[in-house]
Amino acid sequence: MKKFLAGLAGAFIVLLGMMIVRTLNYGGQAPGIQVIELSPPPIIDTDNAANNLGEAIRYKTVTVARGDPRPGLEGPWLELQAWMRTTYPDFHRVAQRETVQGGLTLLYTWPGSEPALAPLLLMAHQDVVPVNMGTEGDWDAPPFSGTIQDGYVYGRGALDDKASMVGLFEALNALALDGFQPRRTILLMLGHDEEVSGSGAAAGVDLLASRNIVPEMVLDEGFMAVTPSPLTGAPMAFIGVAEKGYLSLHLTVTAAGGHSSTPPRDSAPVRIARALLALEENQMPSNISKPPVSTLFRAAAQDLPFTTRFALANQWLLGGLVDSTISAEPAGNAMIRTTTAPTMLLGSAKENVLAQRATATVNFRIHPNDTEEDIMAHVRRVTSGIEGLDISVAASGIRGAGASPVSPLDNIAYGVLSAVAHEMTDGAPVVPGLVLGATDSRYANALTDSVYRFMPAIVRAEDLRGFHGTNERITVENVGRLARGYAQIILAMDTAN
Ligand SMILES: [Zn+2]
Repeated sequence: MKKFLAGLAGAFIVLLGMMIVRTLNYGGQAPGIQVIELSPPPIIDTDNAANNLGEAIRYKTVTVARGDPRPGLEGPWLELQAWMRTTYPDFHRVAQRETVQGGLTLLYTWPGSEPALAPLLLMAHQDVVPVNMGTEGDWDAPPFSGTIQDGYVYGRGALDDKASMVGLFEALNALALDGFQPRRTILLMLGHDEEVSGSGAAAGVDLLASRNIVPEMVLDEGFMAVTPSPLTGAPMAFIGVAEKGYLSLHLTVTAAGGHSSTPPRDSAPVRIARALLALEENQMPSNISKPPVSTLFRAAAQDLPFTTRFALANQWLLGGLVDSTISAEPAGNAMIRTTTAPTMLLGSAKENVLAQRATATVNFRIHPNDTEEDIMAHVRRVTSGIEGLDISVAASGIRGAGASPVSPLDNIAYGVLSAVAHEMTDGAPVVPGLVLGATDSRYANALTDSVYRFMPAIVRAEDLRGFHGTNERITVENVGRLARGYAQIILAMDTAN
């Protein structure tokens, strides 16, 4: 018996030793990331750039529903566009400007001297989400005032996405003023309705496709550097290499209806409830062994606590623990699997009338691991025991509803973004990430697989609440950072071959 216990202890020590070795060897950047030398950016007047962002915020380019702005309500867009011309004259001197389909989405072309080089496509959007009625008073400064106070520019669009738009203009205008002449053609596309459908960007991408344009890189909003990062508690830069897709399903049960005094068992609403419970208890599977999630954890590994690294490095044993720990946080859960969100419920219109039709709408955000067909198959399987359940796709009308492809890490584009993020953060870890929402850039995957979502800014974690929320704001310092970062990206993409 003693011998057996000693043997067991020995085996345990060997196993533990192996696991520790695996932990020490775990992590590192994905192979093939290019090391890029950066040029200094042009001189940017940060205060002036912040003032310009404040001015851009004052144009109420608010979209609420598909098709916005309605005919006759384009005023704020046209005024914002007139403002662009007067505020950034040097860029307007060197670039051609066209409107997409005669609409409000803009496409600028700054022709390069070497037409054989693939162009650079920079994207941002002009529209913003509304401020919820009754919450205006909760803001430290009125939401469409563009007020600068305590070192911040306040207002709807300060982060999403007028900061990108203004940062790009500041960079391009400063470069034009400096006499910079690109070798590679620079395209700037500014969608007008990203927050409702992105129809403008979709049309803009169609236009570029009709011209056979294959960009070297597409850069849009989506991620930035965050301090502190929820992963490590320290600054960290995320570069979006993929974004989740979108699918809504209607689950419907029809029944005879009648008076609620003599109800049947297992009525239509009850069967809908059982279907929702089945979906709740059977979440879509996670998979953290594939990019972008696998590359994210590996790239972040050196900065993760030892215990986290230990678990990640030994998923053959601790995979279940890793999964349940990450899944416990809604944002972590959304990062590793297709999420399931029942959102709308419909039944009878009166309390004493049995439902003849009960419907639930369930919104899925599709992980790059899954397809729409995977979700349909999953829903059918887990609800197969529920009689009379009809499953149909809700007509959400979002084009490209699947998750985006995962963009490569071993090309010039990722190397440039990685270098800019690294320099900007004084050496914080730079990791590839999965964007949980949707951006206009999802359409650009029709042109190239080199699509990235990154704003060169360092945002405090607490300020992330401003996205679509109260007190959306950005530091004055970050407005300067954006302008300089975009200029460095443009310069580095221009010198790389
Ligand atoms: Zn946005």
